[in-house]
Amino acid sequence: MRSKNNKLGHARLRRRRIRARGKKTREWERVRAELKREFERRGITLCELGYAGCLMDECGFAHAHKRRNLGKGEERDRRIRTVILCCHKCHWEIERLGEEKMSEIVLQTIAERESRIERAA
Ligand SMILES: [Zn+2]
Repeated sequence: MRSKNNKLGHARLRRRRIRARGKKTREWERVRAELKREFERRGITLCELGYAGCLMDECGFAHAHKRRNLGKGEERDRRIRTVILCCHKCHWEIERLGEEKMSEIVLQTIAERESRIERAA
């Protein structure tokens, strides 16, 4: 157990946490750039949710899994790419429903999109 009075240990812990966050942010920035190219190539450029009041563009990615819960290795690789494209407004709409419901909506939206693209091919 690390004592709060151990200032050296405390500082070391804090530094490690900051560095870890930086690494994950860089990972996501790299994957996001790949996803952006992939989505554009596949013609997915507008919000995939399209709820009432949807902004259509001004899109970002919404994950099925919270970014802090991506796991490791292959699972992490798959989960970090399990996303839909959606506008800020629709993103907020699903975010406020809670993690479980949001995950369900994202996975459902991906399934519908993939079957639509398959049918069109
Ligand atoms: Zn939208």
